[in-house]
Amino acid sequence: MMNLNDVAEQARMLAKRRGFNTDVLSTLKHCAGEVIEATEAYTQFEYVANSDRTKAKKEAMGQELADIVICALTASAELGFDIEEYIGEAMQKNARRAYETA
Ligand SMILES: [Mg+2]
Repeated sequence: MMNLNDVAEQARMLAKRRGFNTDVLSTLKHCAGEVIEATEAYTQFEYVANSDRTKAKKEAMGQELADIVICALTASAELGFDIEEYIGEAMQKNARRAYETA
């Protein structure tokens, strides 16, 4: 199974190698841009006629979602966080919230 903390460090190192500024604020701004790119890709994928839903559009959507995750992991690595622990806590918190509102 993929260790997200290892992936986070790999993402941070790759971003540095590519010349990106990986400080947290720059990375969060980059994440915001990736969310916009994913939104545009989704628009291209979802709001076209079925006949125009190409494999390429589906792949573009998947790649943009991956960019968002990679970006968030880069910020986590920059902060030295154990993102697996935070995700686990957030999932438990969200599950409790779902019970509270159901
Ligand atoms: Mg992107």
